Amino acid sequence: MDDVLITNIQRCSLHDGPGIRTTVFCKGCSLHCPWCSNPENLAATLEPYCKDGKDGVYGRWVSCDELFAEVMKDHQFYEQTAASSGAYAGMPGGVTFSGGEPLLQFDRLRSLLRRLRAEGIHVCVETCLFVPIDELEIAIENVNLFYIDIKILDKERCQRILGGDLEQYLDNLDRAFSVKKPVVFRVPVIGGYTDADDNMKKIIRLINQYPPLKVELLKEHSLGSSKYLSLGRTPLQLNTVTDDMMKQYRDRIVAETGLETEVCKI
Ligand code: SF4
Repeated sequence: MDDVLITNIQRCSLHDGPGIRTTVFCKGCSLHCPWCSNPENLAATLEPYCKDGKDGVYGRWVSCDELFAEVMKDHQFYEQTAASSGAYAGMPGGVTFSGGEPLLQFDRLRSLLRRLRAEGIHVCVETCLFVPIDELEIAIENVNLFYIDIKILDKERCQRILGGDLEQYLDNLDRAFSVKKPVVFRVPVIGGYTDADDNMKKIIRLINQYPPLKVELLKEHSLGSSKYLSLGRTPLQLNTVTDDMMKQYRDRIVAETGLETEVCKI
């Protein structure tokens, strides 16, 4: 069976990799970050919700054939929108798998990934990397560009706050870099969770150990609040990281790594 559970397919996306992309949001995640802005993508099941008095269901099962037909609708734009400069120079648009944690469904996505590769479609994946190694190996075989999160690098806090095994993450990171695929690191800057000085020091040390194409800093935001409420859950209050603080983090990473570092809006 090659049906996968998704919540959305977003065409003409400009923030999920080089060029124009079609982004597939996979449902189900291996972590439970308290600040997650996509709470509807955490459970690997269909989930009822109620929003503005209307009932609905988050998630739908789609076959790889359906997904292939959908993501190929914009294929003529992918090649035409290759980046001409910067870290992505020469990379075309294409398809991005996001979530949730898309690698958890990569086994079921195999046939689609093979077809995309056969068509020469550029594939990105946005991953937290807290996944079994077998899923990562499928990605290594089929993905052109990895977006990898760096969150909490203390073993006990990582387990307690995110629900992830830091050793698994570090082993996977080592494997991902061993094959020399391009990687962009994404660092969510979340007040009281990831922005402590000792965590930032560890993040910078990790970036220097595994130099990526570039670093993206993601500022905390509350755009997922209505989705938490629709699921009957209370969103985390986030309002402690300012634009000035983001600039300081960026300047510090640039000074200590020499890498292109961008503060992203979302
Ligand atoms: S890894 Fe990403 S999708 Fe999963 S809980 Fe954390 S922020 Fe949300």
